[in-house]
Amino acid sequence: MANVSIDYDKCQGPSCAECVDTCPMSIFVVEGDKIGTENEEICSQCEICMDVCPTAAITVED
Ligand code: SF4
Ligand code: SF4
Repeated sequence: MANVSIDYDKCQGPSCAECVDTCPMSIFVVEGDKIGTENEEICSQCEICMDVCPTAAITVED
């Protein structure tokens, strides 16, 4: 199962939300003023989120 983590020191939050808009499995969700993750067990490890994140805040690990 993949572990999807966000470095909140780097993440720009909902004003960015590129990961929310792009992940094909809808792993990223806006939670108030920050971005959260859910249903990580269905992550396909495609790493599109890592490609679109402008600040390299996302790590996807096996
Ligand atoms: S690796 Fe792919 S499926 Fe997993 S969180 Fe990133 S964009 Fe979504
Ligand atoms: S794409 Fe990166 S900077 Fe933008 S909301 Fe997602 S984790 Fe944060």
